[in-house]
Amino acid sequence: MEDLLSIGEFAARSGLSAKVLRGYAAAGLLVPAAVDGRSGYRYYAPDQVRLARLILLLRRARVPLSEIAGFIRHPDPGTLRRWEDELDLEARNRRQALAEAGHHLGLAAACGLARHERDHQGDDAMTTQTAGSATHPGTARTTNQDALVISPPLFAVADGLGQSPGGETASRLALDTLSEAFTGAPTAEALAAAFRQASHAVWERADTDLALHGMGTTLTAVAVLQTGHQTRLAVASIGDSRAYLVQDGQLRQLTRDHSVVQGLIDAGQVTADQWRNHPDRSLLTRALGIAPVVEPDITLPEVTGNARLLLCTDGLTAQADHAEITAILSGPGDPGQAASDLIELANNNGGADNTAVIVIDL
Ligand code: MN
Repeated sequence: MEDLLSIGEFAARSGLSAKVLRGYAAAGLLVPAAVDGRSGYRYYAPDQVRLARLILLLRRARVPLSEIAGFIRHPDPGTLRRWEDELDLEARNRRQALAEAGHHLGLAAACGLARHERDHQGDDAMTTQTAGSATHPGTARTTNQDALVISPPLFAVADGLGQSPGGETASRLALDTLSEAFTGAPTAEALAAAFRQASHAVWERADTDLALHGMGTTLTAVAVLQTGHQTRLAVASIGDSRAYLVQDGQLRQLTRDHSVVQGLIDAGQVTADQWRNHPDRSLLTRALGIAPVVEPDITLPEVTGNARLLLCTDGLTAQADHAEITAILSGPGDPGQAASDLIELANNNGGADNTAVIVIDL
């Protein structure tokens, strides 16, 4: 016990209060080296001061306690970069919201936006992707409410909801608004802002045109932010159209469905195999058009080396499993060939729904 520090001494050396130290111990982050079985007094080892200071720094960066534990076990520069990216994204989102609030009030918030655009003029992306796409109404339907846009560095698919002509109007309007709004330097924050505009456009049109009342759409987009040694992507999604990455024969899903069944899968009530036949499979918990502005999920996956990206609507994922999709994407065909092979796969497996796919080689 001689080398150990009392909690008071340790608090003084580490700059953390005894109360905070008890909280960290409870979270399993910084466990006392010894606890007196009789008095309950906690003792820390002198070499724990370094760890305490590291945790303090990460907390000052507002990293959640739950993420700090894993980082300390496996510190890696990729995690630090991800936190930085998330910080940038949050700051930009908040700045954008302030600018929009100012705009609503007729105040001079434009200077804030202008500054922020200037900050990112250096982010010019090289667009060296090759892409192919295909869309098909399927074997059971006559109209195609799925749509897609290829406008490098932006790629997106949308699956319209609601009776014709609502569904096809919603998906087209969402994609047109998205690609028009996504101009300037490609950043994750620009993608989020363009999503908000697209979602507002769909809601406004559904709200004002009686024939289109109740229409909505999914929207899933990838913006290639930077290529070269390390490809940086921003993936944004609302609904159940998906983005996948294939690398070395491995398929990685980059999006999470906003659906009732996804909730059941998360709760362990439906297995990943059963979801395709679930009666509530098409019930979405988020879609453009259901509210004035719908927020996308945004992720910033990192890619090293050659990889292939897939964007697709549920017309593919409800008809084909991951193994079948991976086999086609890992095959020798170019992106255009892979896209039409995927449509053929969906139709051969039933083709119950419209399908839209984009395949991009990074
Ligand atoms: Mn669909």
